[in-house]
Amino acid sequence: MAKYDFDLFTIGAGSGGVAGSRRAGSYGARVGIAESVRVGGTCVLRGCVPKKLLVYASEFARAFDDAEGYGWTVGETRVDWARMIATKDRELDRLNGIYLNLLKNANVQLFEARAKLIDAHTVEVGAKRVTSETIMIATGGRPQRPKIPGIDLTMTSDEILDMKEIPKHLVIVGGGYIAVEFAGIFRNLGSEITQIVRADNILRGFDPDVRASLSDEMKKQGIALKANTNVTAVERSDNGLVVVTDAGERIVCDRVLYATGRVPNSGGLGLEEVGVTVNKMGAIAVDEWSRTTVENIYAVGDVTNRINLTPVAIAEARSIAETLYNNNPVKMDHDNVPSAVFSQPSIGQVGLSEDVARGIYGEVDVYVTRFKPMKNTLSGRDERTMMKLVVDAKTDRVLGCHMVGPDAPEIVQGLAIAVKCGATKRQFDQTVGIHPSAAEEFVTLREKRKEPAKAAAD
Ligand code: NDP
Repeated sequence: MAKYDFDLFTIGAGSGGVAGSRRAGSYGARVGIAESVRVGGTCVLRGCVPKKLLVYASEFARAFDDAEGYGWTVGETRVDWARMIATKDRELDRLNGIYLNLLKNANVQLFEARAKLIDAHTVEVGAKRVTSETIMIATGGRPQRPKIPGIDLTMTSDEILDMKEIPKHLVIVGGGYIAVEFAGIFRNLGSEITQIVRADNILRGFDPDVRASLSDEMKKQGIALKANTNVTAVERSDNGLVVVTDAGERIVCDRVLYATGRVPNSGGLGLEEVGVTVNKMGAIAVDEWSRTTVENIYAVGDVTNRINLTPVAIAEARSIAETLYNNNPVKMDHDNVPSAVFSQPSIGQVGLSEDVARGIYGEVDVYVTRFKPMKNTLSGRDERTMMKLVVDAKTDRVLGCHMVGPDAPEIVQGLAIAVKCGATKRQFDQTVGIHPSAAEEFVTLREKRKEPAKAAAD
């Protein structure tokens, strides 16, 4: 008789937990998984998927605007928000069903209850106790908001997905992924947007040209971007809410979105009691194999706060399954992970920003282009695309690739393969462009930008 009920028990059925469990199941492991909310996790139910559906919904407004320049007469348009939210919810139900089936077909036993570690091999799940040789924690993260007066009057990205109507004036606090994505969505849908950022610009950590390009485009769209500003309180008023800032402003609006980062869901799991180290931010400490400080307990995804992206969580979890159940030791490689921001226009990036590259490599060659995409010639849309390559001056290797413009995520995904393979600028140049496309600019960049020191001296 087996020593434990399961070979692998996963806590959390989001993208990472489900992917790792299924992979383990496919290799014959006996797998159980616990989920206390709904199978699917943040990405499918409260993040990437519903957000992207809203991006698509909102982009029709731009298409209607652009159509006239191409000879179309567009009649009266309006969005039925309730219908949009209902169709979005139906799609999420469908995906939830698919995830349930995927688990069933992989012989993964689902426990629809909250789980807690009792010891290194025992999990209490609902009213039951199960044992497992290996445990994988994949409990994700949740939005965090600073504790200021009136914070309960505000929404997070969880609630904004179910708003009953499109706000007339939406105030967004934060300058990260979620903040700029929802600014774009609701601006397209006609909301007045005020975005409040405590730093000097949006998207800290991104390449400086990316930050500058996107914030310029957002301002052109009429988004009021207030940098170097902190919110001190949110108050209720007769006609909605008032956001009070440290600049002494009182901004009247009807909804407030806080997108001020996320924290790992590591509380209440009994981690510390069994010896799993959790850092000050609540992230589970893991080694390069995603192993925690307890030998048979692993953790993947946002709860480890490494690179908080769905495909990364999936790859981390599958690496564990490969290593333990397929005799194929795989360490997740966190270098050159591409990512996208579904802002308006969108961002795609892979590799290093110019400042980080300079910090590591010293001398780097920088190639930047800004241009009006062909589609905007007839549409008259005043929006420019930015593309940038950061190249190691010594080896000619492309270290970073950045784009702000339509289809940037689709374009940069392909380039990420080249960057991952260590492609040089010369190899980019030897690649024939696809014409006419925006993407071809990445293989026709000729002019190096002057070194900042030289540019300043001129
Ligand atoms: P981010 O960490 O990206 O950004 C948080 C923002 O909130 C920053 O601008 C930060 O400012 C600001 N902030 C933090 N604390 C405060 C505070 N107390 N007062 C005012 N501003 C504050 O978090 P998000 O919530 O946007 O997203 C969470 C994560 O989810 C992302 O990091 C990403 O990993 C993932 N995600 C990925 C997406 C994608 O791939 N397209 C989409 C959405 C989310 P400062 O810069 O000054 O610290």
